[in-house]
Amino acid sequence: MPFTPFHFGPALLLKSAAPRRVSVASYAAANIVIDVETLYHLLRHDTTVHQWAHTFVGAGSVGIALGGLLAVIARTLVPRLPIAKTMLESEVGAGPIVLGAFLGAITHPFLDGLMHSDIHPFRPFTDANPLLGLLTIPTLEAVCVVAGILGAAILFARRSTLGAIACLLLMAMTTARVEIAINVPMRMGDMARQLPDRDITDLVQAAKAAGLEPWVIRGHHGMYADVQAVDAFGAATVTTQEVRRGPVATLVRQRAAGVWQPWTVGSRAEYIQVAVPRKNYERIENDADINRPFRISGRYTDADIVSLVTLIRSSPGAVRGDWVILSIVQQRDGTSEVMLRTDDVSGQRVTVVRQGGTWIVTSASFWIS
Ligand SMILES: [Zn+2]
Repeated sequence: MPFTPFHFGPALLLKSAAPRRVSVASYAAANIVIDVETLYHLLRHDTTVHQWAHTFVGAGSVGIALGGLLAVIARTLVPRLPIAKTMLESEVGAGPIVLGAFLGAITHPFLDGLMHSDIHPFRPFTDANPLLGLLTIPTLEAVCVVAGILGAAILFARRSTLGAIACLLLMAMTTARVEIAINVPMRMGDMARQLPDRDITDLVQAAKAAGLEPWVIRGHHGMYADVQAVDAFGAATVTTQEVRRGPVATLVRQRAAGVWQPWTVGSRAEYIQVAVPRKNYERIENDADINRPFRISGRYTDADIVSLVTLIRSSPGAVRGDWVILSIVQQRDGTSEVMLRTDDVSGQRVTVVRQGGTWIVTSASFWIS
């Protein structure tokens, strides 16, 4: 998530350790500049949103360059400001600015690397990310908040009251997250990716009018050139450690005399996501990511779905557990049909039956459409 305020918790703690040596303002600026990279890739709908600036080498370079630039700006600007210079010395002095920007930058790939699977913090040396999953996201956020509170308390204790208040104000301001990029739904499927932004806006409007706030839209090229159908996955209504559930609707539009007609909301259903270890629900790297949401139809408890999906993901027998699940549908005869997909045109149909407390695969066949 770009511009997360959680980065600023550790900033306060570092500031409290050396109030005169670290500028929190430049620390914050470095974090925001680095997340411009994320924003840029989100707006372009790229599947990898954390790239060069989210490596230690890249972030460190950004920090030093930005620190130098800010120090020069501060040197020319500050003497002209009608404020007591001593009060701000620790924020606008060249040394604190450069150190603050560097610390802010270098901690960024560390904190982000703990939670995002598309970060390769040690590039160009290695693609590995040993940081991923060391802390769960709620723990990480709690650590950042506690660091911030502790830092503020120490600053007050050290009679750096003004500094502490300024820092807390800064944190409060950034808590109002920049959500522009987040409001753009993720796109899955070649057709959805090729839709012009204006069409996506229309689609989102139509879905919202039907009471659904899409976070993922999925669409593949169909059989007919003059009909498009897109699945819009709405905001989750139930979130637990194991599953996330929400509404999904199919929106359809037709082309008449070369002009696309408005989107209309067709069938509605429920979707579910079954947690993938060390990944949050929002992170879907590409169409083949098993973390993606899928339709369910039938009466299933969370525990039912978790045990069923865990079985499928373990690739029992001929089942391709590494393929994504498109849907799980309860049949009239009590069996469940699991549709798996490898690409747009082929996949696997797996029939599963409940026996006692577990599930058993009774058939698995390949399909091509
Ligand atoms: Zn970031």
